[in-house]
Amino acid sequence: MKQPGRPGTAPLVRADTAVRYLHGVGPHLAEKLAHLGIYTIADLLFHLPLRYEDRTHITPLGALQVGMRTAVECQVELTEIAIRHRRMLLCRVSDGSGALTLRFFHFNQTQADALSRGTRLRCYGEVVRGALTLEMVHPEYRILQAGQPPPDEAALTPVYPATEGIAQQKLRALTSQALRMLESTAGLLPELLPTELLEHACMPALTEAVRYVHRPPADAPIAALMDGSHAAQQRLAFEELLAHHLSLRLLRQDADRSRAWVIPGAGSVEQKFRAALPFNLTGAQQRVAREIFHDLGMSHPMMRLVQGDVGCGKTLVAAMAALNCMAAGFQVALMAPTELLAEQHFRTFETWFAPLALQPVLLTGRLPAAQRRQAIATICAGQARMIVGTHALFQQDVEFAKLALVIIDEQHRFGVHQRLALREKGAAQGLRPHQLIMTATPIPRTLAMTAYADLDVSAIDELPPGRTPVQTVAVAETRRAEVVARVSAACRSGRQVYWVCPLIDESEDMQCQAAEDTATRLAAALTELRVGLVHGRLRSAQKETVMARFKTGEVQLLVATTVIEVGVDVPNASLMIIENAERLGLAQLHQLRGRVGRGAMESSCVMLYHAPLSRAARTRLQVMRSTNDGFEIARRDLELRGPGEMLGTRQAGELNLRIADLSRDAALIPRVQQAAKLLLERHPAQVPFLVRRWLGENSRFGQV
Ligand code: ADP
Ligand code: MG
Repeated sequence: MKQPGRPGTAPLVRADTAVRYLHGVGPHLAEKLAHLGIYTIADLLFHLPLRYEDRTHITPLGALQVGMRTAVECQVELTEIAIRHRRMLLCRVSDGSGALTLRFFHFNQTQADALSRGTRLRCYGEVVRGALTLEMVHPEYRILQAGQPPPDEAALTPVYPATEGIAQQKLRALTSQALRMLESTAGLLPELLPTELLEHACMPALTEAVRYVHRPPADAPIAALMDGSHAAQQRLAFEELLAHHLSLRLLRQDADRSRAWVIPGAGSVEQKFRAALPFNLTGAQQRVAREIFHDLGMSHPMMRLVQGDVGCGKTLVAAMAALNCMAAGFQVALMAPTELLAEQHFRTFETWFAPLALQPVLLTGRLPAAQRRQAIATICAGQARMIVGTHALFQQDVEFAKLALVIIDEQHRFGVHQRLALREKGAAQGLRPHQLIMTATPIPRTLAMTAYADLDVSAIDELPPGRTPVQTVAVAETRRAEVVARVSAACRSGRQVYWVCPLIDESEDMQCQAAEDTATRLAAALTELRVGLVHGRLRSAQKETVMARFKTGEVQLLVATTVIEVGVDVPNASLMIIENAERLGLAQLHQLRGRVGRGAMESSCVMLYHAPLSRAARTRLQVMRSTNDGFEIARRDLELRGPGEMLGTRQAGELNLRIADLSRDAALIPRVQQAAKLLLERHPAQVPFLVRRWLGENSRFGQV
């Protein structure tokens, strides 16, 4: 890579100049900075303080209390190198009102020598309790020269997100350098927002905002800066959200300009399909199906998100979309997040499409080699019309002959990347496949506008008739015996039961082990019952067998890990036990509970917990007991956790926000949308620069 020269050879600094250009940044430090995502001068300027500290106020040593973070001014009494468990430098200081010990584990001899008796210091750090006196461990300190006035500290000292091996002082020095460059180099960070927008929203200019946030003046409103609501911070968050929103709008524009197969209605085939179903479509299913059919009839690709609570019947809507494409002679790929779910969809479609003599094909990672080859051959040849699978569908050797529609189930488990990859996969003869994306995560509208700004949204806001709400209770682990008795009674009366052992440990292996142990214990306690076990470590065929036996009712009690969290559908199961429920989030509890209450009979869910409950856990269990409504649960979830987590880690990681925080800055979103429209219409030339500034050169939208 070409290194930019030192000043003198190439004086012009640019936003994308590498940090190596700065004084004092060698390869070693550059690597550390890279851990913080800082590669360029711009990255450094957008590396904003996490918080601020007030160092103007000096606390007398006699008034220090444990837990305080404060500045002190003092004089060294005694400095010694001590060896307790390890070598350390201890420095006793006093100021006439009291004493304090400074403790350093990392130090050198020069440093030790400089802290000689009588030296005056200004220190800043957190006060902790030591053996004899209060202490500060690795405080920041500065030696005060005799006769010189003490340094003027700015009212607020920024504290940056740091990583091991980079001290705050270093980050402050580096940002100061970058800020000086910003001052002296016109156009280092060009203003990309149009003046009309800035004026209308009363927003500060970019460079002004950056400078303010790094070095707030003495009279800055501390509280606003601390909670991120200051106009300067909001200005930066706004621009970042705008860039993300624009990138998705570009993606959408791109789709609107590209071409797709026009899919006519399936007519009599659809009638035959519906006639063979054991139920009628709900009004919401019909409406959403019509919306999809409309999109499929267009000559540019559909990009539609179908949102609907667990159990509302999204699979059926997907099947109808698929049917249209198959009837017109095209292929459809459905991607599910787990093998278990892919297998279940495969069976469902097998049953539903049997009257039409259409046979789906399954393609997952665990298929035996011969079967896999066979499946791929039929896909390439175009004989396979409906292909159901996991992300194995992306693999290089899978080539579709005539892919017209891609369906992605449980979108929150996937990222935008995977969605795009599958789209590319299907691109052929200059045509792109239509995309149908399904999710049970009912995200609030403003959030959807940010995370899914490239998609149209349909909602299935009605459950099939005859469902009774699931009765939910929280039961302490100590009453386990009662719960086991309840399981036994339910099975005796012909019902089926899930017993879920969710993630306790990080490792999947541990989780599987826990499920195995629980299954063994339950089987021993309930000898009359047929107990089955599914977890991620089982081979596909084994899982499939157990699930099939559970579906037919042969297995009465199914012990499982959270592999059954998404999508699994066995209507006769009407009791669910969730272990360690206090450790699960609302979204996951709701997804799990959604496995019961799918038939007409009364269902229940028992959340087993270990006391004592934290306040947050108590609230979550309370929310679950009080409602079955996915939207209400999502709303409470948003309150409790914030949207980053709500979209799922992958999704949030995908957005990869540096400055904006979706829960804190949700109020900006309507303005972001308006601004995006304005830019696309009146200042389209600015848009690529904005997107590149915030999403990077190699962003997923590099192509647009
Ligand atoms: P989800 O939206 O959570 O993916 P599913 O598609 O798995 O829900 O549907 C849940 C259950 O409801 C399935 O057993 C499905 O066969 C059934 N179902 C779907 N649509 C209807 C309907 N209109 N009437 C009755 N049952 C339905
Ligand atoms: Mg589903």
